[in-house]
Order: sequence, then C-alpha cells, then structure tokens
Amino acid sequence: MKKHIIGVDIGGTHTKVALLDLSGHIIHKTDFPTKNYKKEELIEAVSLAVTGIAKKKKIQKRDILGLGIGLPGLVDFKKGLVFCLTNVPGWKNVALKKILESKIGLPVFVDNDVKVMAIGELRFGAGKGRKNIICLTLGTGVGGAVIINGDLYRGSSLVAGEIGHISINEDGPACNCGSSGCLEAYVGKEYFLNNARKKLRSASGAAVMKMAKGDISLITPELLREAAIKGDRLSMEIWQEMGAHIGNALAGVVNLLNPQLIVIGGGMAGAGEILFGSIKKAVGEKSMRIPGRAVKIVRAKLGNDAALIGAAEIVKDRLGGA
Ligand SMILES: [Zn+2]
Repeated sequence: MKKHIIGVDIGGTHTKVALLDLSGHIIHKTDFPTKNYKKEELIEAVSLAVTGIAKKKKIQKRDILGLGIGLPGLVDFKKGLVFCLTNVPGWKNVALKKILESKIGLPVFVDNDVKVMAIGELRFGAGKGRKNIICLTLGTGVGGAVIINGDLYRGSSLVAGEIGHISINEDGPACNCGSSGCLEAYVGKEYFLNNARKKLRSASGAAVMKMAKGDISLITPELLREAAIKGDRLSMEIWQEMGAHIGNALAGVVNLLNPQLIVIGGGMAGAGEILFGSIKKAVGEKSMRIPGRAVKIVRAKLGNDAALIGAAEIVKDRLGGA
C-alpha cells in the first residue's frame, strides 16, 4: 500500500518540498529560494528535491501516492495548468502537471497555494469543524480562498478567491495584476514597505529608525513589529493602517458570504495582535451587523506548513482517497 505523499509549496520567495504520511504529518522537508531559479530550473529543482528526499528517507517511488503542488497564482487545477504567477516572472500557461509527471513518474496535482492552505487549515488547523471559511494570506502577494459547505469555491474559470485583488480605492496605485487600487497594492510586502519608508522619510524621531541604525533600507516588517510593540507611534500607525485596509476589504467579503471564520496566515500575519486588532476593528465597523457578529477572525494554525499539508491532501482527494 502506498503510504506517502509529496507536498510542494512554491512561494514568492521560498519553495518547500516535503514528504508526508497519509495523515498529514510531515516526515521530512527541504526548501530553497524561488528567486534563484528560472522556470525550467525551478521545475528541475523540485524534481531533484523529490528524488533527494525519497533517497534520504529510503522510500521507493512506488510507495508514494503522488505529488501535490501549490503555487501563488491562477491555476486550472483540473488540467494542472498554471495560467500565471502574479509575483514570479516567466510563468505563463505552463502545463506543470504534464511536465512534472514526465520528470518524476508520479501522479502530479497542481493548485493555487492559498486554496491548498485553506484545505490544510480546514482539515487540520484553525478551521477544524467549520464549514464556511475564508482564508487570506499576507506575504509578497495577498492570496485568498473561499470554502463553502466544506468545499473550495472555484468559480466559473476556477480562479475564485482573489481577495487581494479586490479594489479598495478606484483611484489607487497600480497593482502587479494590471489593475489599480487593489488590496495587494496597499498591503503586499513590497508595497507595505515602500509606504512605511515614505512615512519614515517625512517623519523624524521614529524609534524604528534608531533600531535600523538610521538606514531606511534595513526597515523590515519584523522591525516595524518590534518597534510597534515597544510603543513607537509611527510603527503602530503603519500596522493599524494596514489592518484598516485589510478589514475594509474583508468587511465586503463578510457581507457577501457570511462566513463563520476568517483564517489569516502568511509571513506578514506574524505581526500578531497589533495587526489583528486593527483588522477586527475595521471588520466590526464596516460589515453589516448580523454577518459581522457571526464571523471570527483568527491566525492560521499550521503556520508555514499549511500549504504543504494541503497540497498533500489534494493528492488524496484527486485519487479518491487512500
Ligand atoms: Zn491587483
């Protein structure tokens, strides 16, 4: 009986490859920086990582059910086709399932990274026992997924859930997706840092600048979080503003879908209560009373492993369980 699954999470900055058992436990994982590789090289690196892990853990390929892969972009999960990756250049209409299957000789299933993360959180994490969930990830990009009655909502072109590309300002800044004023164009990591730097340049005496030894290029979300916790007013304002933007977009989502739970993950969610407090406040103020009261907003529970675990789950789902 096949007892293992490979989960792959291709992120804007890091690619992770893991060997899991059928219960969603990670047995071994490895990672490498996504940006160091062009498309073909990245696919090759994933293939090599799979072979490397199997060898290290002394697992035969015939004992592996398949490989599930989550990517940060628009994906046709049925055909295993990647339409595009918003923040990773060079990916357009890539038949990833076909390419990887011929390289590694295992069944391969491709899906959007936030959708697989949502499946991971639904079955093993913060969403356990719930049925109507929204997932949001805050990182290089802003991803989203919608689960209705325990299943992913896919939409008519299979690309539903792009909460990051809800416009929150019709005259807002240009976004990587080609539109403008999108949530991502305010709270995606690079946009967020540019905005923070702009504020820091026009202010004086911000404690976070002392922490960065006066070098604005050393400002990171982690440093802004630390400074905000220490009470630096400007850093607190930067996070509160980010929370208000996210909350505004989510209030619309809450009114539209009346979810029980919103699960927020990704690197930027590491800001914790300073950010979550502002998100909850804005959702409370901007959503309608009844759906606003029904929704809980929580941090993702599986952390950086959610997409790996969810990617392995889609292999089980697509092969009809194991
Ligand atoms: Zn956009």
